[in-house]
Amino acid sequence: MARVAFIGLGNMGGGMAANLAKAGHDVRAFDLSPDALAKAKAAGCLPVASAVEAVNGAEAIVTMLPAGSHVESVYADAVFSHAPPAGILIDCSTIDVATARRVSDAAAAQGLVAVDAPVSGGIAAATAGTLTFMVGGSADGFDRAQPFLAQMGKTVIHAGASGAGQAAKMANNMLLGATMIATCEAFRLAERLGLDPQTFYDISSVSSGQSWSMTSYCPVPGVGPDTPADHDYQGGFAAALMLKDLRLANQAAADAGASTPLGKHAADLYESFVAAGNGGTDFSGIIRTL
Ligand code: NAD
Repeated sequence: MARVAFIGLGNMGGGMAANLAKAGHDVRAFDLSPDALAKAKAAGCLPVASAVEAVNGAEAIVTMLPAGSHVESVYADAVFSHAPPAGILIDCSTIDVATARRVSDAAAAQGLVAVDAPVSGGIAAATAGTLTFMVGGSADGFDRAQPFLAQMGKTVIHAGASGAGQAAKMANNMLLGATMIATCEAFRLAERLGLDPQTFYDISSVSSGQSWSMTSYCPVPGVGPDTPADHDYQGGFAAALMLKDLRLANQAAADAGASTPLGKHAADLYESFVAAGNGGTDFSGIIRTL
């Protein structure tokens, strides 16, 4: 078993670090929040007083932080100067492609190997160890990261070179945001045209309009499997995080010269939804605005 540094023990990182500890690793855990550190301790990790202390002597350094700026500062302040050359740097945060590539290049300049490995799946999947990881980096980086990621998830896919994990995450979540809004609109339209929502679901879920947003995450209460819609749109994937991902996707599209008019429109709609005080609501709750 290995010594692992885990930095960022929030909603997602807390469960992920716990699963590495459960797998038998010596997990040195660091977070700015004393509460998060206490939870990590209860889950079998060793809380430490700084990121530097976590990184010293670690074979794998995992970060699960809010955004690119946090990742860059933790890497600059603690990781680059203290990570052993044989270690693997694994950033699981959802951040912009450009920062992910910059971090990876800076790591290589120090003789270190880094991968971006954002996740699909929410807090429940992080706790259960059933996340999907999409990994950007060299073949060597992927081979070094894979055994650790496999202990926190059920699927680990090598998406391509550095930044490719974030690119996959962004494109996927842009598709998710757009299909969720389209699914909400379709239910509302069917209702206005006199269809019972369950009847529309029975038809559309086996017809060409079917999508994950409909069959696995239906935004209408009492229809389809149990989803946040059945719990007053609480829990699940917060609208504020969907907005964050849509902004990242649109920024990446602008940088790459890709045309994403629906992605842009989805971001505008989530922008209004979040501005109206719904940032903590599950993203399927946008149906209430239609
Ligand atoms: P969170 O805010 O719950 O956790 C982030 C943690 O990082 C906090 O505990 C915070 O104290 C800590 N932190 C911030 N700066 C730090 C620093 N300099 N040093 C040490 N710790 C620091 O966020 P989360 O929901 O766990 O999300 C983490 C990442 O995962 C984000 O990039 C998010 O977009 C992504 N993500 C979240 C979900 C989800 O459903 N929550 C799903 C997929 C991906």
